[in-house]
Amino acid sequence: MRQARLYVMIPIDGDTVVIGAREVKSRFSSEIGRHGLSDQIRVIETGSFGPSNQGVIAAIQPDGVVYGNLTPERVPEIVAEHFVKGRICGRYLLPREHPPAIKQVLDSRHTQAAGRIVLDNCGRINPESIEEYIAADGYEALGRAVTGMTPGQVVEMVKESGLRGRGGAGFPTGLKWSFCAPCQGERKFVICNADEGEPGTFKDRLIMEGDPHKVIEGMALCAYAIGAGEGYVYIRGEYKLSIERMRKAIQDARAMGLLGDNIFGRNFKFDIEIKIGAGAYICGEETALIESMEGKRGIPRLKPPFPASHGYLGQPTNVNNVETLATVPAILRHGPAWFRGFGTPTTPGTKVYTIIGHVRRPGLIEVSAGVTLREIIEEYAGGMSAGSFKMAQLGGTAGDVLGPEMLDVPMDYDSMQKVGHVLGSGAILIMNESVETADFLYSCMQFFKHESCGNCNPCRNGIKVLCDIVGRLRAGQGYPGDLALMEEVCMTLKSSAFCPLGQSPAAPLMSALRYFRPELEAAIDARRQRPRTQHVRLDLVELTI
Ligand code: SF4
Repeated sequence: MRQARLYVMIPIDGDTVVIGAREVKSRFSSEIGRHGLSDQIRVIETGSFGPSNQGVIAAIQPDGVVYGNLTPERVPEIVAEHFVKGRICGRYLLPREHPPAIKQVLDSRHTQAAGRIVLDNCGRINPESIEEYIAADGYEALGRAVTGMTPGQVVEMVKESGLRGRGGAGFPTGLKWSFCAPCQGERKFVICNADEGEPGTFKDRLIMEGDPHKVIEGMALCAYAIGAGEGYVYIRGEYKLSIERMRKAIQDARAMGLLGDNIFGRNFKFDIEIKIGAGAYICGEETALIESMEGKRGIPRLKPPFPASHGYLGQPTNVNNVETLATVPAILRHGPAWFRGFGTPTTPGTKVYTIIGHVRRPGLIEVSAGVTLREIIEEYAGGMSAGSFKMAQLGGTAGDVLGPEMLDVPMDYDSMQKVGHVLGSGAILIMNESVETADFLYSCMQFFKHESCGNCNPCRNGIKVLCDIVGRLRAGQGYPGDLALMEEVCMTLKSSAFCPLGQSPAAPLMSALRYFRPELEAAIDARRQRPRTQHVRLDLVELTI
């Protein structure tokens, strides 16, 4: 086949596939064929470019022209204008001043050198082609590690990089690997936690859909480092396209000898299977995830023992998040010092965020760790879409609410901790003044009420009490003392709920109280008297409500 002159890059991900991206792609192919241009123009399916409010997009490369909001019916006009007449079809053109996410896709100078480590291939290669991943230096890090490094050296390199788990907790990845590496068992497992259940978070899905081989390479590097022979990707069942692409990527890697026995001709054996989750939020917690993999109800386990020594099937197991594993190949390829060139001293590297809410350009971005919320809103999300900033929630429903005072705090694990907040998994929900704080908190509490597994009393009953309180506030019918009671229940949940889910409602509620107490106080109806006193026993703490 002759080298193509132009490329039509169409991002096909879980969002665009439902609005007709595949139909647009096939219409481009048929129209280009109808004009006899098939040997000059290639249509390529890619992962997400980032923006999620431009409908189906097509980028014409190397022209650097991007058309948006496409339907199959609009394609003939674009093909006739752009490819036959040689002029831009202005009607569907996206503004030439592209947002940073699209610039990073279109311009190779905006890739790893500019801080795009995890998403460097997203939107640039066909995620279903292992050849394209290899052509973009894919599996080079694995080859280098397996043929030229000891497992201990790989662990040390990840430790030196300072990479911290990107699932939300920020635990040092190399340290986690070093706990599992010496553990002995008949079998040892690497699990990729792709059960992305936090509302508003979809970065892991877009990483798997845009560059599945990078996740596989990261898992294989982890397996080599800790001495594991088997891997599982635990993906939530709703992520159909992620499952499809990960499955194909695993098959292709197996066919090329990059998974299986004697990888790179060495005595290294590793293979991966996919496990599909049934959509329970609690299964994002690693021990609940393991229980679910074992065919049991997804309830967290009492720790210790930790999965590093007693995980899946009672064997040593290392669980990492998708983004964490997808970061590892670049660290092995370029070295820890290079990785530390991004981000901050305590949170080196980059962070992938999904931005939603009242911003002009919602979607997926990857930025150097430590950029501020203001920079993210103004530079990457195009500013507020309406009104002015009121609050943001970081890390999904289980995350903290931030007021305007926090706009200039660097978004890294330690800086956020210093001001009493948690960075979270990477979801950023931006809200303007049209959002009532109590309304927002009510929807958060409804989510927790729905997702509580009911295993322990503080969570089962405490969240219900919180729902009742916030429901009253929302209706402007709070009782005097409701805010104090809310704080008390939150503290009880934090100290006695069995797992992070039960402890999580405290995050949005307590942080909202920190910034919006006067607004919540205004929802208390001073004329109301307390109803008859009622005792609720949450574990060992008795509350009077
Ligand atoms: Fe289940 Fe909630 Fe207890 Fe966690 S805290 S075990 S989700 S009831």
